[in-house]
Amino acid sequence: MNLRSYDELVKSKHRLSLLLFLFLSCTSSLFSLLSTVNNKMFLSVPLAGITLLSLGGLIFTLLNRLRLDNILNIYAFLLGLLWAWHITLKYQAIGGDDKNFLLISLFSLFFISAIAFSANFTAFLLHVLPAGIMIVYFDQLHNLLRIVFIIALPMTGLALHHILQKRSDAFTRRLVDNLYIEREKFSDLSMIDPLTSLYNRRGLENKWASTQPPAANQQHFVLLMDIDHFKAYNDNYGHTMGDQALVRVAAAIRDTVRSRDIVVRYGGEEFLVLLTHVERAYAIKVAQRIQEQVLALEIPHLFNENVSTQVTLSTGISPLEALDWMGAVDRADHALYRAKHNGRNTIEYKDAPLPEPSQTASLA
Ligand code: GH3
Ligand code: MG
Ligand code: MG
Repeated sequence: MNLRSYDELVKSKHRLSLLLFLFLSCTSSLFSLLSTVNNKMFLSVPLAGITLLSLGGLIFTLLNRLRLDNILNIYAFLLGLLWAWHITLKYQAIGGDDKNFLLISLFSLFFISAIAFSANFTAFLLHVLPAGIMIVYFDQLHNLLRIVFIIALPMTGLALHHILQKRSDAFTRRLVDNLYIEREKFSDLSMIDPLTSLYNRRGLENKWASTQPPAANQQHFVLLMDIDHFKAYNDNYGHTMGDQALVRVAAAIRDTVRSRDIVVRYGGEEFLVLLTHVERAYAIKVAQRIQEQVLALEIPHLFNENVSTQVTLSTGISPLEALDWMGAVDRADHALYRAKHNGRNTIEYKDAPLPEPSQTASLA
């Protein structure tokens, strides 16, 4: 469940309360049609209006042809006015003696509004006010206590219900928000390598998907880097020291490139840097600077045979062509292979020819 589906749930709740309102209005207008005055059916223009408006609204809303929820307040007020008009006409037809009719009408109106508009106080008021005022006016304080009871009971219920509903809505919204944040956090965490805090392959794939094509005269570059003779480092200094070296090298790479460049722990002691919207000379320069920075860490590595007495990197560079990411990584990997072959702690660009298999066999 996400925020969108939660909003949809709230929207469908509004739609249901609108349908309920239309259904109850329609039912009570039909009931009014059946109730007689002096043994005769009492048909009035406003009652016909209420029946048509509520029945029509019900059908069109059910068929999804009408967005009445946008004009709900106007609709509620319109029906409220028609009820006030009808009650006035019927009360006059009765002859002004039957105050019970007024009480029943008032009760029905408050009942419909309280049930259908429990979450919309404005619509509630707009619906009950016109007829409510007329009824209080006609009653002339004969049934003051009963009227106060009929009004106060649903109003109190509504107010309490409103408070509870608001609290429960706020709680649900907070819960959904938190779930959403947690989900984002987990999704972010699943893209991060726990040792170095760099992106992992999943993070890289995510970044690839959102990378825009390069601007004119610029390119994206893949730099693939591998620590030289790292197995020997582990074997001689221990795995814990190996981990620490990896963390420091990762930080040095991250600190050397721009914040918008993507740095990935591509494998065990292999790193990938994605430089976007740059020129070839810049990409090579960044690779050189990274190698210098890693050397500047001065991590002793006496078993970095014939290369250095410190931890060093070899680098292969390839431009990205036609957004073929895997092709670019493959070419960078070939270049890296050559860098290893050419003595390590070196940088190779993808264009140079690959060494003969016989020459590289000793590197396997
Ligand atoms: P080359 O210069 O050809 O890259 O030689 P290498 O020894 O670096 O390459 P190789 O692939 O033989 O060894 C990589 C080593 O990296 C082996 C493994 O122990 C080490 N390694 C990979 N992941 C980790 C890690 O998470 N922590 C530590 N401490 N070592 C790791
Ligand atoms: Mg290595
Ligand atoms: Mg390796």
